[in-house]
Amino acid sequence: MKIAKVEAFPIKLPHEDRYSENTREDEMNDYGDYIISRRHWTSIYPKHLETTLVRIETDNGIVGWGEAFAPVARRTPATVIEDICRTVILGHDPHDVEYLWYRTYSSMRERGHGTGFFIDALSGVDQALWDIIGKALGKPVYKLLGGAYRDRLLVYNGFGGTDPETMSRQAAEIVALGYRALKLHSRAPNRRLVEIVSAVRETVGPEIELRVDVHTTRTVSEAILLGRELEKLDVNWLEAPVAPEDVDGHAEIARALDMNVATGEWLRTSYEWKSWFEKRAVDVPMPDIGRTGISEGRRIAMLCDYYNLPVAPHVGAGCILAIAAGLHVAMAAPRYQIFEHGHHAMPLKSSFADRFPDVVDGYFTLDDTPGLGVEINEDRVRALVS
Ligand SMILES: [Mg+2]
Repeated sequence: MKIAKVEAFPIKLPHEDRYSENTREDEMNDYGDYIISRRHWTSIYPKHLETTLVRIETDNGIVGWGEAFAPVARRTPATVIEDICRTVILGHDPHDVEYLWYRTYSSMRERGHGTGFFIDALSGVDQALWDIIGKALGKPVYKLLGGAYRDRLLVYNGFGGTDPETMSRQAAEIVALGYRALKLHSRAPNRRLVEIVSAVRETVGPEIELRVDVHTTRTVSEAILLGRELEKLDVNWLEAPVAPEDVDGHAEIARALDMNVATGEWLRTSYEWKSWFEKRAVDVPMPDIGRTGISEGRRIAMLCDYYNLPVAPHVGAGCILAIAAGLHVAMAAPRYQIFEHGHHAMPLKSSFADRFPDVVDGYFTLDDTPGLGVEINEDRVRALVS
């Protein structure tokens, strides 16, 4: 079996109302298709949903799919996939997946391309190759990664906003849908954020797990002060407290607080994770398998075990293939804790698939479907390319 064809599909899924509910216009710089918070040094977000899909076909007609998670600039990983990855992997046996990752990774390493869009592209290709191997062997990918350590995967559902009443109402709605764990996204100042979390805690009661993501908006001191307040509200983790580059700052916060510091959605390879583990800068590593790929994601998950830490895969704006790839890694990860989920975004994220894993009563389950377990509707994908 040889790789015969490699294609990338940069796609855009229209979603008119994505930011209208919780975002005031005067808080955002509007750039047409994209927005950035006016008051914070924080991410650029697409108004629609964007990503890059990878389709790889073998000479015996097996088709594998992957996703280079690309919430902005979706054509960039597509170019890398078609100009570099395709060049390196064409004609090879897909079973050589880890060799092919390393061969491609090494091809740009000396030039400093050790992360970012380049690794996103490798991630999508890696997922597609694992999908092919699973389909060729008639096994779900988690079986190829060492087998299922569990029969279902607990998720938490994320939601965001700036108003305690609105967020309490949203929290109650999410709990009514069967979710037992929630994550609040907020860039609000400490006092306001504590008001929000208090209101939510009062609404949902003591049994529901709460997590808080502040999207790198704090200084070290602000994060520690915030964490002390959140500990009183029995919040499970404080996520991404300070700047992504500040490993030592994260470590300082992790040591100062009793509660967990969760972080790492921006870290793609085990090389990048190394210092975070060594400095114990994180209590709950959050690799995004849409960015790491399956091979590297599994390596990071095993490092979590080595360092006596849980692993909680991050899912940002990634669509169904990135989600599925993360689920297979999670199934085969000894120290899996919880998986990120967005209930209301799921229909759009899976709208180009005819069959896919979904959440029931707060848990994902994976069946015995060979490969990643996602049946892609190719006509729909091709219609979304832009
Ligand atoms: Mg986050």
